[in-house]
Amino acid sequence: MLEQAQRVLKDVFGYDSFRGRQAAIIDCVANGGDALVLMPTGGGKSLCFQVPGLLRPGLTVVVSPLIALMDDQVATLDELGVPAAALNSTLTPEQQRELAGRLRRGEVKMLYLAPERLVQPRMLDFLRDLDIALFAIDEAHCVSQWGHDFRPEYLQLGQLAELFPHVPRIALTATADMRTREEIVQRLHLQGAERFLSSFDRPNIFYRIVPKEAPRKQLMAFLGERRGNAGIVYCLSRKKVDETAAFLCDQGFPALPYHAGLPAETRAANQHRFLNEEGLIMVATIAFGMGIDKPNVRFVAHLDLPKSLEAYYQETGRAGRDGLPSDAWMAYGLQDMVMLKQMLQNSEGDERHKRIEQHKLDAMLALCEETRCRRQALLAYFDEVLEQPCGHCDNCVDQVQTWDATEPARQALSTVFRTGQRYGVGHLVDVLLGKDTEKVRNFGHEKLSVFGVGKGLAEAEWRSLFRQLVARGLVDIDLEGYGGLRLSDSCRPLLRGEVTLQLRRDFKPQTSARAASSGAGSPASQLVRAEERELWEALRTLRRKLAEEHSVPPYVIFPDSTLLEMLRSQPVSLSDMAQVSGVGARKLERYGQAFLEVLNNSGGSAEAPKVVLDLRHELVSLARAGMTPAQIAGQLNCSEKNVYSLLAEALGRQELSLEQALDLPEDLLMEVQDAFLDGEGELPPVSAIAPLFGGRVPEGVLYCVRAALAAEFEL
Ligand code: ADP
Ligand code: ZN
Repeated sequence: MLEQAQRVLKDVFGYDSFRGRQAAIIDCVANGGDALVLMPTGGGKSLCFQVPGLLRPGLTVVVSPLIALMDDQVATLDELGVPAAALNSTLTPEQQRELAGRLRRGEVKMLYLAPERLVQPRMLDFLRDLDIALFAIDEAHCVSQWGHDFRPEYLQLGQLAELFPHVPRIALTATADMRTREEIVQRLHLQGAERFLSSFDRPNIFYRIVPKEAPRKQLMAFLGERRGNAGIVYCLSRKKVDETAAFLCDQGFPALPYHAGLPAETRAANQHRFLNEEGLIMVATIAFGMGIDKPNVRFVAHLDLPKSLEAYYQETGRAGRDGLPSDAWMAYGLQDMVMLKQMLQNSEGDERHKRIEQHKLDAMLALCEETRCRRQALLAYFDEVLEQPCGHCDNCVDQVQTWDATEPARQALSTVFRTGQRYGVGHLVDVLLGKDTEKVRNFGHEKLSVFGVGKGLAEAEWRSLFRQLVARGLVDIDLEGYGGLRLSDSCRPLLRGEVTLQLRRDFKPQTSARAASSGAGSPASQLVRAEERELWEALRTLRRKLAEEHSVPPYVIFPDSTLLEMLRSQPVSLSDMAQVSGVGARKLERYGQAFLEVLNNSGGSAEAPKVVLDLRHELVSLARAGMTPAQIAGQLNCSEKNVYSLLAEALGRQELSLEQALDLPEDLLMEVQDAFLDGEGELPPVSAIAPLFGGRVPEGVLYCVRAALAAEFEL
C-alpha cells in the first residue's frame, strides 16, 4: 500500500516524500482503519485523507466547517487533476442536481460538504447508495464545547459510525489539548481509532516579543524589512484596527482593515483581496483568522497582547503554513496588561471562570517576560518538551541578559507606597526621576524621600521594571479605580530584603538606537536574496497571471515553496521541472513550460550547455504556442535556417507535430509529404525533393517534413 501511496504522492501532488507521520496515517486509513490526527497548522493534514481517498475505490466525503475553505481545497484538487466538488448553499438547485448525477455516476472522487448538510436524512440516504471510500472530518475540534469554535452540527457526526460501519473515518485537528482530544473521541465515536500525535512545534516561525515603546514606529521598522510579503497585524479593538490600517496606507504600506464592525461585503472583499493578491497586510481583530488557509502569510504581528497562550499560538500559527521562514512579532507593554485585566474584571461569568482566565493571562505575560528560549516555554505550556533551546527565537539569538534589580525594585515599590498606591506608571517614574511636573507639585510629591532617587536609570528602564513587577505579580493594578498600582502581598519579602530580584534587560546600552527600538532583527521572512529578486518577481508575475486566468488564488497554481525551489534549482527541461517538489503530472503539463520560459529567459545563467538547451526548449514552446518559424527566429534572435534545423530535431524527437512546427497551408503540407512518400522503401533525401517545389517552400520545411516522417515510420 505504501508503495502505491508514494506513487500517488509523486504523480498527483508532485512531492517526493511524506512528512512526519503522514505515511503511517495514510497506511492506517487506506487499509480501512479509523484515525485521530493531531497535527499543527501547516503540518500537512490534507494529504492524510486525500491520498487514502485516491487509493481506495469510491467517493471520499470531507466534512469541513467553512465554505471558503472548501472552495479553496476543491480549486487546489482541481488544479491537481483530481475530480472534486463542494456541495454547499452557493449552488443553484440545477447545479445540485447536476452534481448528484456526477456523484451517482462515480465521476467525483472527493466531495466537500458542511456537517449540517451531511447529516440531513436525505443526504445520508443518498450517500448510502454510493460507494464510500472514506469519511474525513476536518477541524474536528469543532465538536468540542470546551473550545471556541464549537459547532453543534458536529455533534451529529457520531452517527456515521453506526450508519457506515465499514467505512473508515479520519478526524483531524490542529488543536492540541487533552480535553478537546477526548471529546473528539467520545462524540465522534472514535474509541477504536488509532491516534497520531505530532509535535506542535512550528520550527519555521521565528518568535520575537519586544517592549512597546513607540508602537507605530516599531511596527513600521518591522514591516519595512518585509516589504512585498503578506502578513497579518492583530489589534485588540476595532477602532485601533481602522486607525492602524489607515496609518499604514498613509505610510505607503498596502494595508486593509478587517473586523466584525465592517459591513459584510467589505469584510468579504478585503478577505478576498488578501487571499488573491500578493504582499497585502491585513490589519485585523481576532475576528479574522479561522478559515484563513493562505499558506504564504509571512508574518503575524501583534500590536496588543492576546489573552492566552492558546490564542497566541493559534494566531501566530497562521504564519508560514507553507513551511517557509516566517515571523511572529509582538510589541507589548504595561498598558496591554491593564486593559486585559480590566476587560477580564468587567466580563460576565462566575469567579471560577475568571480565575481560569486570569491564569491564562498570567501564562501569556510570563512568556513575554521569559528570559529563556521562547519556544521551549511555549511548548512546555502545551505539555511538550523541547530538549534544547531552539536557536530560532529572540531570546536564543540575542542571548537575553538579566540584571540584579533588587535595589531599584525596592525604590519603585517604596514610591508606590509613599504616593498612596493610586498612581499609574507615568507619574511614579516622574517621581523617581525627580521631575518637576504640575502633578508632582500639586500633590507635594517633591517632598517625599523617594523623589529623585531613581536618576541612575533612564525612563524606559523604569517602565520596563514596573512592567516586569506587574507581570510577576509583585505589584497589582487597581482595577476598580483608574488602573493605579498597588503593592501586592507577594512583594513583602523583597521589601524586607529577604530575596533578590533578577530582571530581563530590555535595553542593551551598546546596541544602536534603531535596533533597540524596532527590535526587529533580521527578518526570517525575507525569502529571497537581492540578486534573486528579479527572477522571483517574474515567477510571481507569471503565477499571478495564470491564477487570474483560472480564477484561483496564486498559491493554488504553485505554493511559494515550489516557486522558490524553481528559483534555486533552475530547471532547464520539463523533466527537470518534474523533479521540483510540488510539480505533479497535471501541473507539469499545464504550467511547466510557461515557468521554464520565465526561468530560462531571464539570462540568469551564462554556461553554454544550458543556453543551448534553453534555446531548444524555448523553440519548442514557442512553436507549440502557435508561432511561425519566422516569428520564432525573431523572438530568439537567430536565423530562420537555424530555427528550421532545430525544429527538424524536435520533430525527430516527436516533441512537436508538423502542424505546430510549420506554417503551411494544409494542402501544401500534404503535397510535400506525398512527395517524400511517393517512392518505395527509403525516404528520399531533401536534395531529391527540392527541385519539385522550386522555391515554393523554404528548404527548411523539407528537412522538417522529412524528420517528422522518419520519426513516425521509424525509418
Ligand atoms: P494543514 O491542513 O495541516 O494546515 P496542509 O495540508 O494545508 O496543512 O499542508 C500545508 C502545506 O504543506 C501545503 O502547501 C501542502 O501542499 C504541503 N505539504 C503537505 N505534505 C507535504 C509533503 N509530504 N511534502 C511536501 N509538501 C507537503
Ligand atoms: Zn529559542
